[in-house]
Amino acid sequence: MDESPLSVISYTFTALIRQTMYSVLFYIITGILLFDFVLERIMDHLNNKQWTADLPETLKGIYDPEKYRTSQEYYRENLKFGILTSGFSLVLILLMLFLGGFALVNTWAGQLSTNTILLALFFFGILGLAMDVLNTPFSLYNTFVIEEKYGFNKSTLKLFFTDKIKGWILGAVIGGGILAMVVWFYIITGKWFWLLAWAVIAGFMIFMTMFYSTLIVPLFNKQTPLEDGELKTRIRAFCNKVHFALDNVYVIDGSKRSSKANAYFSGLGRKKRIVLYDTLIEDLNPDEIVAVLAHEIGHYKMKHTRSGILLSILQMGLTLYILSWFIKNPALSMALGVEEPAFHVSLVAFGILYSPISTILGLIMNAWSRKNEFSADAFAKEHFSGSHLAAGLKKLAVKNLSNLRPHPLYVFFHYSHPPLLKRLEHLEQ
Ligand SMILES: [Zn+2]
Repeated sequence: MDESPLSVISYTFTALIRQTMYSVLFYIITGILLFDFVLERIMDHLNNKQWTADLPETLKGIYDPEKYRTSQEYYRENLKFGILTSGFSLVLILLMLFLGGFALVNTWAGQLSTNTILLALFFFGILGLAMDVLNTPFSLYNTFVIEEKYGFNKSTLKLFFTDKIKGWILGAVIGGGILAMVVWFYIITGKWFWLLAWAVIAGFMIFMTMFYSTLIVPLFNKQTPLEDGELKTRIRAFCNKVHFALDNVYVIDGSKRSSKANAYFSGLGRKKRIVLYDTLIEDLNPDEIVAVLAHEIGHYKMKHTRSGILLSILQMGLTLYILSWFIKNPALSMALGVEEPAFHVSLVAFGILYSPISTILGLIMNAWSRKNEFSADAFAKEHFSGSHLAAGLKKLAVKNLSNLRPHPLYVFFHYSHPPLLKRLEHLEQ
């Protein structure tokens, strides 16, 4: 290095600017995490204020006073539990940031391999596994204490842990595969990695949407075609009427884990499928089941899955493009206390810095999804019956002890489906 006074000054100055940049970035990251936590608590508080001691007029005929009280207790228990788990996560990540935890994990991963791709895999592997293990007591408590207390839980410890192990394997294969590819693209193409990564991830998203029901669901549940009987006859009549193939309707053994009921549409083109939970069939009468099915067929007819994937792919492209602008900046890694800039460490910092943008994109997706729910309801009303759908939705809400009076801000942030009262209102119009 040139030792002339002027260059020493300029060197010191550059170092100072750099140091300031890492600290600023470090505090922005911390600020985002804290802001997010506080925002969630404010929304919890607004939501909580919506509850009344007596059954509100609007819910008469849906909840009885006793069930209303139970739903309130269930809500409060989940609220307290949510504060505990998110508080725990916040403390954990703040400790990682302030005590140099990411640098430590990076060193451990570096001892396992110096290959850039393997290093990234070990780094995220250690972080992911540690996070999951630390969260396990919380999810055990949620399933076997809270859900159990309100009669929802049907899972066993054995099922719980086999699910977990399957989840780990899936995460390692899918998440690890995608990560390895992205890092490899970065090594061979530099700044342009985002385009290759986008193409491959988009292809994978389409593939997964198509084959989710045939490749992933069978690892956890059994899906069977509808059994012969009155229900099947009724469903066949409706499917014929709206030109939807009956052999795309399946029943899933959701009762294996929870008594909560549900139904969904998945897949694309020939791989489309409507899945009804066995618990739904048990709880609703045939008219209500056909109405719920009509709602799901509405999603299909209006091509909601197809446009949903398209939106997700566009979002993914935007995220990867922005990532490509920032990833080269050494300040990202250094803000997490890692001196030698590394792609995988920068990815974590980027993930947190990007979270306000992804929250906004999430809000758009949720608003779009709520609009689709109204359209699917309208389809069910037009082609089958609005009153049967309304009756079915009411039953499901009570059965699942849903919060029927969420605060509008909470709905805006978190609900992918409109609250029941809004749906009933639309169905009556
Ligand atoms: Zn829907």
